[in-house]
Amino acid sequence: MKRGGLDLRSGFILLVMLFILVVIILIIRKFLDLNRRLLKAEARAEQMYQRAIRDGMTGVYDHQYMIDYLATVDSSYSLLMLDIDDFKEINDDYGHQVGDEAIKYVARKVASNIRKSDLIGRYGGDEFIIILFDCNQEETKLVKQKIKEAIAEPYETSCGEKLNITVSIGTYINKTEVAKEALSKADQDLYRIKRSKNGNNKVSIR
Ligand code: GH3
Ligand code: MG
Repeated sequence: MKRGGLDLRSGFILLVMLFILVVIILIIRKFLDLNRRLLKAEARAEQMYQRAIRDGMTGVYDHQYMIDYLATVDSSYSLLMLDIDDFKEINDDYGHQVGDEAIKYVARKVASNIRKSDLIGRYGGDEFIIILFDCNQEETKLVKQKIKEAIAEPYETSCGEKLNITVSIGTYINKTEVAKEALSKADQDLYRIKRSKNGNNKVSIR
């Protein structure tokens, strides 16, 4: 009798333990599922954020991101304003698709000739802005020269057109100006170079 009672009790305890185990397994599964969904949502949000701050064509940062970023920088930097020379001719001679390829080519060349910590953004059309951090005048000059030489290498488009792309680069080396003035000064420098006698394919000496 007692033995039968004991068996019944241990059977009941076993059942309860089994039930608790199933509940624990279900909770863990739910937790893992929620965690997976959260990670997925985070990845999607990051993807959407990156899409929102980048230029759709070149993949570099967009105009607004660069302006907003500049306003937050408190360390010293060199600001470069780069413009493709006679870009309209590329469009006119080869078509807009080749023009697009040329813009992407320039973005790639700049990105691969600056440090990972520096930034490149498309200012609009055939213009880019580049921020070089902790770069003195001499170093800035060297980086600009490197960028220009890299871009000037012969480039063959996907349709087989051989282009010789050159760019002009204006500079502002940050001392005290706020972002908006720094941009305006780099822009003025670019147009000073563009206006000079053989304006295209020139970097400022400053
Ligand atoms: P400069 O040497 O003085 O810089 O002259 P430019 O011909 O390079 O400059 P301009 O401002 O006269 O022409 C720029 C052209 O770029 C005008 C516009 O139609 C074209 N453009 C702007 N955005 C794009 C784009 O995303 N793709 C293509 N293919 N063309 C673009
Ligand atoms: Mg141009």
